[in-house]
Amino acid sequence: MKLGPSSIELIGNELAIKWNDGEESYFLLERLRRACPCAACGGEPDVMGRVERPLVSYAASSFLLRGFQLVGGYAIQPTWADGHSSGLYSFQYLKRLDAEWRSPANTSEK
Ligand SMILES: [Zn+2]
Repeated sequence: MKLGPSSIELIGNELAIKWNDGEESYFLLERLRRACPCAACGGEPDVMGRVERPLVSYAASSFLLRGFQLVGGYAIQPTWADGHSSGLYSFQYLKRLDAEWRSPANTSEK
């Protein structure tokens, strides 16, 4: 079965995704925005595979979601309240973020 969301809901400051494999993920909007995978936010790894994020300045509205759409059956494209919408969060990427953020080793990381 191809991985995909069976429902996506905005609950308070979290994006709640129910996957078709039965799992559920909750993404804090602020963390989600900071993990934006678009080139402008520095989500592209360099040739060594390192991802070095440039200093991106955020406003309060950067962490508010205006809406989102599904793209090509493989990704979610959020539109943030500050107008930024070039980040494509593939389902795989979201699953990986969820797993990373759940792991206790990363709880101190912002
Ligand atoms: Zn971005």
